[in-house]
Amino acid sequence: MSAVPEDVVIVGASAAGLATAEALRNKGYGGALTLVGKENRLPYDRPPLSKQILSGAWEPERVQLRDAATVDRLGARLMLGRTAVSLDTAARRITLDGDETIGYDALVVATGVGPRRLPGDDLAGVHVVYSLDDALALRTELLADPKVVVVGAGFLGSEVTAVARGMGLRVTLVDPMPVPMRRQFGERIGTLVGRMHEEHGAELRLGQGVARFTQTDGRVTGVELADGGVVPADVVVVAVGSTPGTAWLAGSGLETANGVQCDPQCQAAPGVWAAGDVASWHNPHFDRRMRVEHRLNATEQGLAVAENILGGQKPFAPVPYFWSDQYDVKMQAFGIFPEGAETTVLHGSTDERKFVVGYADGGRTVGVLGWNSHRELRKLRRLVVDAARLPDEIPVAAGRQS
Ligand SMILES: Cc1cc2nc3c(=O)[nH]c(=O)nc-3n(C[C@H](O)[C@H](O)[C@H](O)COP(=O)(O)OP(=O)(O)OC[C@H]3O[C@@H](n4cnc5c(N)ncnc54)[C@H](O)[C@@H]3O)c2cc1C
Repeated sequence: MSAVPEDVVIVGASAAGLATAEALRNKGYGGALTLVGKENRLPYDRPPLSKQILSGAWEPERVQLRDAATVDRLGARLMLGRTAVSLDTAARRITLDGDETIGYDALVVATGVGPRRLPGDDLAGVHVVYSLDDALALRTELLADPKVVVVGAGFLGSEVTAVARGMGLRVTLVDPMPVPMRRQFGERIGTLVGRMHEEHGAELRLGQGVARFTQTDGRVTGVELADGGVVPADVVVVAVGSTPGTAWLAGSGLETANGVQCDPQCQAAPGVWAAGDVASWHNPHFDRRMRVEHRLNATEQGLAVAENILGGQKPFAPVPYFWSDQYDVKMQAFGIFPEGAETTVLHGSTDERKFVVGYADGGRTVGVLGWNSHRELRKLRRLVVDAARLPDEIPVAAGRQS
């Protein structure tokens, strides 16, 4: 086989899969291209699902990433509504549902993640938010003025809480951690997120896990917490993290503990690459292995994989970017935010809810997070790119800092 493949198959037809396919064509790849996707839809964008789609600000069509004519121009065989069920790396063959097999020279695994589930979450009234259908189903129920319990105070749970409060609903946010989003951004930011929810009228039940869901006739009626207390609910949203979409790779020989394990070039095995939420790779910029569940990374990693499939040997070394919209707050972040990182306010004031916080690990800046501070954050990103020492905290102006 020549160094440049003649038959590329991409499994997962979402942000990362589409980006890889487009980049291959843009870089002049003229061979066969197949895009396999479990969902029977053209690729669409997920971030608006828990924001504009849930709130009703956008019509569902608006999330579509490309129109049909643009996808058509890729000259790819689209196999939508089809699921890859197993992979034989030695024979370079993928088996799809219905026992159909397809061969490849180069395979891109772009199967993303799926929502983590909780026991008993198959009751009516219990929702996850991963697909467009999930978001539309939840919105329909929210329109009936229910009491809502959101389980999980990460990004997704926080966004759903904000939208539901925006609709005037009674919302309780439950999490076993004592502050929201602590896992993502630490105590300092988590405390502010908690305060923000309370100020907008959400009730917080933190520091306690879910024991079980209560129900009547198969429909959820409440969430029982670890201390035995029950929070009444007509609708429950489970937002407790995600699981990499690797079940279909069992027995393939690929390492799939917490995502498809790749080298710095995003290659997992001869002829196999991975991109997007499912890919775990060694990022040389931070000198650590990571798996990033952020929208921009899916595109950037798709581009990197396309380049490397076509013979590039470039390590993928991004400074990841993430944003989240909650109420009137836009949080944006560049970099990584390891547990125990030292935090420093680099701009503005947390009391004024307009600031940038830097995160340092091992003496170098690894992340910057902006809270309604887009312009300043973009400037301070440089600290992460340069792996610079974190500057001193800006002086507290008349005790304004919290
Ligand atoms: C509700 C929501 C809100 C979000 N908000 C933000 C945000 O504000 N900011 C941000 O940076 N990121 C956000 N994200 C994350 C962002 O959407 C993801 O990082 C991005 O979608 C990853 O793209 P992907 O292509 O890697 O994976 P995915 O988008 O997860 O797509 C994977 C695709 O592969 C398909 N698939 C899985 N298994 C198989 C199989 N065996 N065979 C065939 N197809 C398969 C799936 O059906 C899916 O279509 C959000 C995600 C969600 C769900």
